[in-house]
Amino acid sequence: MREIYDAIIIGGGASGLMTAIAAAGAGCRVLIAEKMEKCGRKVRITGKGRCNITNMTDTETFLGKVRSGAQFVRKALETLPPERLRRMLEEAGVRTVEERGRRLFPASGRAFEVADALVRMAGRAGAEIVYHARVTELERSGDVWHVITERRDGERVTLSCRNAVIATGGVSYKATGSTGDGYLLAHRLGHSIVPLRPSLVSLVTDRPVFGRIREQLRNVSLTLYADGVERGAQQGEMTIDGDIIEGPIVLRLSREAVDALTDGKHVEAVLSLKPALTSTQITERIRRETEADASLTVEELIRKMAPRTLVRGIMSTAKVKNSDMAAGISDTAREAIIKALTAIPLHITDYGGFDEAVVTAGGVSLDEVDSATMESQKAPGIYLTGETLDIDADTGGYNLQLAFSTGFLCGMSIAEKRRRH
Ligand SMILES: Cc1cc2nc3c(=O)[nH]c(=O)nc-3n(C[C@H](O)[C@H](O)[C@H](O)COP(=O)(O)OP(=O)(O)OC[C@H]3O[C@@H](n4cnc5c(N)ncnc54)[C@H](O)[C@@H]3O)c2cc1C
Repeated sequence: MREIYDAIIIGGGASGLMTAIAAAGAGCRVLIAEKMEKCGRKVRITGKGRCNITNMTDTETFLGKVRSGAQFVRKALETLPPERLRRMLEEAGVRTVEERGRRLFPASGRAFEVADALVRMAGRAGAEIVYHARVTELERSGDVWHVITERRDGERVTLSCRNAVIATGGVSYKATGSTGDGYLLAHRLGHSIVPLRPSLVSLVTDRPVFGRIREQLRNVSLTLYADGVERGAQQGEMTIDGDIIEGPIVLRLSREAVDALTDGKHVEAVLSLKPALTSTQITERIRRETEADASLTVEELIRKMAPRTLVRGIMSTAKVKNSDMAAGISDTAREAIIKALTAIPLHITDYGGFDEAVVTAGGVSLDEVDSATMESQKAPGIYLTGETLDIDADTGGYNLQLAFSTGFLCGMSIAEKRRRH
């Protein structure tokens, strides 16, 4: 007779591995079916290869960073909070360091250490892993689920379990194995899928204000408007690359921008190169500079306040000439320069695709999943975790933590169910 696992986990990513660690660690017979040649391919490229594992902030602040599903993930986050995750990884040999913004990284700066540790932890807990096993179908007979896997050579192998966990991730960075199979599996079982959108993604402007330059900007602010209504503001770093804007503050506003564009709204991002200064303070600065050097041209003046590559763009926006002397500029010209430094309108017309989005927004509807266990309310014995669900959060370690927490709660719930039966 075919062996019946307590849990077959579909996908050995962040969430699936953590589900296995929890369930196998609590005595369940667990198998992970992973379609790639190794587990955690996405984890290995996270945080630019450094893996921002989690964010050590308190629960309420954390939940404030969750864009979709904040209340849904509360129990999961309380069951496996950042502190407990850190402890688990440290015990598995991953030394960690906390950096600016309470972001946690492996001290080695190597994301693959985290992925390798998770695989090791799953193995030590007793979970089996089968690679090159793409799950294509789920069939039920009584209280047993048959998981149909397609192997590298095209062979179809059926595995059986009491509980199957869909932990297949989203649809971004498809080369990591996250190709959206879980949405199809869940849909076939009767689940509704909230439309998928790329999140934490670059934005595209209709014309490059500063020409074809690439410039990294620090300590700037970006305010996002949809049909003239403010939808968020962020301060920090961003990069202008011709007509593309990217970097941390853009990523944080991208979810709102993508949603507004999808709704057909007019989207504008207003950039300030001097967010810490009021216009009075900038006026005072201009006065000081011109008093110190009467021969300063307008171009030289702007050069003192903005990166070199942006100077031409600022001058043309302010409609001032490089031959103008800074000491002699009119009030109107000075106001125009200040505006060109602090309120640069960038008309947003598009966004990057799933191939470059850090996270997939949308997914399996949370209304159909029990937040206390991660079990489907449409198909008993089916569980859903991680990015497959309609949950997503800001950049800063929050997304991985959600994948880990939902996975951990799921694994514990399956173990608890097994104890009861
Ligand atoms: C470039 C990049 C950088 C990121 N950096 C960070 C960061 O620093 N911090 C952070 O918090 N978040 C980061 N994220 C987001 C984070 O990686 C994801 O939110 C997280 O990996 C989601 O975990 P998951 O387990 O749900 O999905 P995944 O990690 O995508 O795992 C899904 C797994 O399922 C497997 N699979 C898919 N379909 C099947 C199938 N049919 N059969 C069998 N197996 C299947 C896949 O091969 C994969 O192994 C980053 C994302 C990207 C793309």
